[in-house]
Amino acid sequence: MVIKPKVRGFICTNAHPAGCAASVREQIEYVKSQGSIENGPKNVLVLGCSTGYGLASRITAAFGAGAKTLGVCFEKEPTERKTGTAGWYNTAAFHNEAKQAGLYYKTINGDAFSHQNKSEVIDIIKQDLGKIDLVIYSLASPRRTDPDSGEAYVSTLKPVGEQYTTKTFDTSKGIVHEITLEPANQDEIDNTVKVMGGEDWELWIKALKEADVLAEGVITSAYTYIGKELTWPIYGHATIGKAKEDLDRASESLNNNYSDLGLKAYVSSLKAVVTQASSAIPVMPLYISLMYQVMKDEGCHEGVIEQINGLFRNLLLTENPPVDEASRLRMDTVETNDDIQNKIKAIWPKVTTENFPELGDYAGYNQDFLKLFGFGFAQVDYEQDISPLADW
Ligand code: NAD
Repeated sequence: MVIKPKVRGFICTNAHPAGCAASVREQIEYVKSQGSIENGPKNVLVLGCSTGYGLASRITAAFGAGAKTLGVCFEKEPTERKTGTAGWYNTAAFHNEAKQAGLYYKTINGDAFSHQNKSEVIDIIKQDLGKIDLVIYSLASPRRTDPDSGEAYVSTLKPVGEQYTTKTFDTSKGIVHEITLEPANQDEIDNTVKVMGGEDWELWIKALKEADVLAEGVITSAYTYIGKELTWPIYGHATIGKAKEDLDRASESLNNNYSDLGLKAYVSSLKAVVTQASSAIPVMPLYISLMYQVMKDEGCHEGVIEQINGLFRNLLLTENPPVDEASRLRMDTVETNDDIQNKIKAIWPKVTTENFPELGDYAGYNQDFLKLFGFGFAQVDYEQDISPLADW
């Protein structure tokens, strides 16, 4: 079939296998161009390995450090008539590239929140890898079923405390307009913490430790976004921010509980980038477009792979890395510095639907958005008839 993007609201409902493969190759080339990571991890588990920051983590571990990688993701397989999800094709492409490079890879497509998924992963580690020395927790999900109670929880993207009125960009209608977001109630806050907080990260580490598949000195990181005043009302100080605060609690508890193993748990704060998760958050497409414009003008723009490559090489895998007041690793300091933020704040009140393409980097945002689904790569012929099927 000839595959063209089908965008519905903040999501693209199809994906291009050759484009996703091009995207994975570009990230691999970038990591390889940075040279190899000395004394890096050998056996790496990436939870949320198929897109965004998790995929970049897997690529950096495999092609930077030569690590064996085991991944978990939740993706849709293609059929003869319908494409798979981008994460499916990214994983197929990653497998191909890893195979050619002689690197071990295995991926489980299933619900990482479940007990069953954890025991499948543990079986594979025992069979193939022995022990894991790096665990990356990069799940982004709107829902989670508690594996013990069976109760399903849904997260909410709402302010906390009071109503918030701000500008947003409606990506489906192409207009900048004001929105008023009602504050979350306590249930909504608690449910968001249940889905995106630290509980499942802790359950993973507990299960891996009990199965004796964590190496001495194992490192683990979950990812967060902290941001600044422009995004605090809808992110940092909002429901999702409460869940992210719970990651800080979880990392402290992991460091205390597994000190006998020499485990080091970090929450790593990364910059805002276009991913499937971030494009679903109100205000973020507008903020990211303006921030991209400012950071590109200043020559300090970075995407997912540059961020993770920097995180691994300069912070996460180093002895005693510098941490902030909450013991987090910070890769977001260029985005959040006052100079960059003041430039974004100066543009913010002036943005209208008409001048948005000039004042913001909406073209760059849109291009990155389409690339998430494998569209817009110069080296891919999008007129060509291509099979949507791709095996792992
Ligand atoms: P993403 O949507 O690109 O990736 C989410 C991953 O989770 C995918 O691999 C998906 O398959 C997997 N997944 C979702 N539900 C699952 C389930 N039930 N079982 C197994 N796998 C499942 O998201 P992302 O933006 O890369 O986010 C990853 C992490 O990085 C999140 O914690 C997010 O908050 C954080 N982060 C994102 C940004 C940003 O701007 N995108 C910035 C800083 C931090």
